[in-house]
Amino acid sequence: MDKQALRKLYLRKRADLSIDFVKANSQKIAQHLFTLEEFKKADIVHCYASIKENSEVETDLILDFCLNNGKELVMPKVLSKVEMKHVGVSSITGFKENRWGVKEPVDGKSVQADYPDLIVVPMVAGDWQKNRLGYGKGYYDRFLSRTKGLKVGILFDFQLHNVNLPVEDFDVPLDILITENEIIR
Ligand code: ADP
Ligand code: MG
Repeated sequence: MDKQALRKLYLRKRADLSIDFVKANSQKIAQHLFTLEEFKKADIVHCYASIKENSEVETDLILDFCLNNGKELVMPKVLSKVEMKHVGVSSITGFKENRWGVKEPVDGKSVQADYPDLIVVPMVAGDWQKNRLGYGKGYYDRFLSRTKGLKVGILFDFQLHNVNLPVEDFDVPLDILITENEIIR
């Protein structure tokens, strides 16, 4: 299957999830993340705001944890058709939804792509080689190619594709994947 067919497949599977499933397993995923030595050591964490309507792994707990535990939080903000900027955030207030329904900080100081120590990455699907399939816009490929931060993908167990995903030259593999059931290194 090509990337587009795989995206359709996994987005359709995600559309069937119950609110309870998303909530319970997002909690487990966040707890796994908090146990990582690399996360404990990370002073600056980059994390997106999850979209409820898409049944993405919820990041609310991760955002709150960072803000309440002395980590510097950086969130992405779409800048153009191809690029995101990265904004330091000190509280989850003053958010506005962009055209895809992703909550973004209204203001805040911009930082460079390689500023965060650890980046929490959204996934449409992943595989055991830690390859990533995203929504198909390449925002994270462009961003991750310019950072030295640890790249941690979060996804539900069923989003792990059992064979290798198709990859192209510009796809950036992740360092760690976390599901509700395991941490893949
Ligand atoms: P996703 O990673 O969101 O699943 P793709 O990997 O299919 O999506 O990438 C989407 C588009 O983004 C591709 O058509 C590709 O040309 C473009 N792209 C990805 N990475 C880069 C990059 N580093 N520089 C320029 N264009 C890129
Ligand atoms: Mg890609």
